[in-house]
Amino acid sequence: MPNRRLLDSVLRAIILILVSVASTDAADSEWRAGVSQTVITPKGAYWMGGYASRKKPSEGTDLNLRAKALALQGKGGTRLVIVTLDLLVVTPKMADAVLTGAKKRYGLEPANVLLNCSHTHCGPELRLYRETLHNIPQPYMVKMRDYVDWLNGRLLDLIGDALRDLKPARLSASQSTAGFAINRRNNKGAELDERYAAGALIGPVDHHVPVLRVADSTDKMLAIVFGYACHNTTMGFFKTSGDYAGYAQKFLEEANPGAVAMFVMGAGGDQNPHPRRKEEHLALHGRALADAVGRALAGKQVEVGDRLRVARTDAHLEFQPHADRATLERQVKSKNQYERWKATYVLGQLNAGRTPITSYDLPVQAARFGNQILLVAIGGETVVDYSLRFKQVFGRGDDNSGKAAGPMLWFAGYSTDVSFYLPSLRVLKEGGYEGGGHMVYTKFSGPFTEAVEERTFAAIRTVVGEVLK
Ligand SMILES: [Zn+2]
Repeated sequence: MPNRRLLDSVLRAIILILVSVASTDAADSEWRAGVSQTVITPKGAYWMGGYASRKKPSEGTDLNLRAKALALQGKGGTRLVIVTLDLLVVTPKMADAVLTGAKKRYGLEPANVLLNCSHTHCGPELRLYRETLHNIPQPYMVKMRDYVDWLNGRLLDLIGDALRDLKPARLSASQSTAGFAINRRNNKGAELDERYAAGALIGPVDHHVPVLRVADSTDKMLAIVFGYACHNTTMGFFKTSGDYAGYAQKFLEEANPGAVAMFVMGAGGDQNPHPRRKEEHLALHGRALADAVGRALAGKQVEVGDRLRVARTDAHLEFQPHADRATLERQVKSKNQYERWKATYVLGQLNAGRTPITSYDLPVQAARFGNQILLVAIGGETVVDYSLRFKQVFGRGDDNSGKAAGPMLWFAGYSTDVSFYLPSLRVLKEGGYEGGGHMVYTKFSGPFTEAVEERTFAAIRTVVGEVLK
């Protein structure tokens, strides 16, 4: 598409115009905000998600899992409800249940709701199709189904609670950085330890910590929303925990009584915390992130104008075809249980005369808060390249500097539908787990086609163009 550069230039020019008038619209804020939160830890022992190696149910709780909702209403009544979840994934079924319910009960369109999960690996498995993949015992499958049903209803109530709590508010933006996320594809094994010791880790990262402060009319803090691009995989134990993000939220709430701290997962698909695997690392990284947010809150606050715009679309993605029948028939006898499972599934579909899924609509949404924050949230286990490209195209490339030069650009992955890794073209071509290897754990055919990044980015341009109008 030859007009892409022109389109980007136009969108960037609009951003610069917004910046020049940014200071004039914050005087008499008509923002209204409401918050709610609830514990969503399953009762008793349950089957955990996140690691294929889990062979037994959960054993106790390190930190309760929470769901939190922040309802925002801008001048003129446009609303956005941000729901953050200490959970591994948001499944399409969950999103469908919550978004359909939110429309029916509260008149919210899908663009008015943002569902984001922290991707903690120390919480429940929620993907019902994984029953046969992981050989999950029946009683735990029954429990998982009941939990998902309960959760959907609870999240709808949570949104209603936040909406009922709407009251005059003021919003401000600030930002910081935290350095514990590492590129896990580029630093592995002994090399990781050597490079870490030498301070010479390689590969793209996004250490940006965007912060949205929400206070009532007396400046009492109601909510602290903050983002970071890193897997919540500090631990792989059998205790329930929100991992580093759970700790960061806990520390921030302890330091700011009465405020609800909400973690928004960024494009951390190829990012891991480091070091990890010792319980003390949970608080170590949680503290590092909470401190980064604390520095942002203690620093210059940019008041956010009360104009709210939201938009949503889908990126139409395509999968490469599945293996041919001869290969599949060989794979059903594979020593690798996951390859066996996948081949059996695809053959079953073919034998039943069904066409395996060849394309997928990935949710992509944007929100503009005054002229001060431009937020894009997309589905999938989004790799960091998307966030970096978004900031390069729409910003001035200085988001890691701590200085707000334009509207703060905020990129969230893991939103609304987390069914697979979303590789960039670079990661797809490199291959490996996030590039396409992980597809063996899903019901989708091959890796994505090479159009994956451009299709996604075209959808990002569409929603950004919409909220900048
Ligand atoms: Zn993951």
